[in-house]
Amino acid sequence: MTKFILLGLVIWLAIYVLKRVVNQSNSQPSNTPAPSDTGAENPETENPETENMVQCATCKVHLPRSEAFLVNSNFYCSKAHIPNS
Ligand SMILES: [Zn+2]
Repeated sequence: MTKFILLGLVIWLAIYVLKRVVNQSNSQPSNTPAPSDTGAENPETENPETENMVQCATCKVHLPRSEAFLVNSNFYCSKAHIPNS
């Protein structure tokens, strides 16, 4: 009888260890895709976009710096607004 009890204990221990290994492998991927750092970086990435907004020297319209024309340290929304000197 003691052999059966021992066998049951070994099987229970094996299942217990297996469950712990499965729980560890499950908790590790759930931790990696949900870092709170990436959520906090989103507002930071939006701020540079608003800072990159420039104003046309001719019509005073605001536009992204990447779309603006820089002439003589002045930004212009289009080539038509660049004064001819
Ligand atoms: Zn303009």
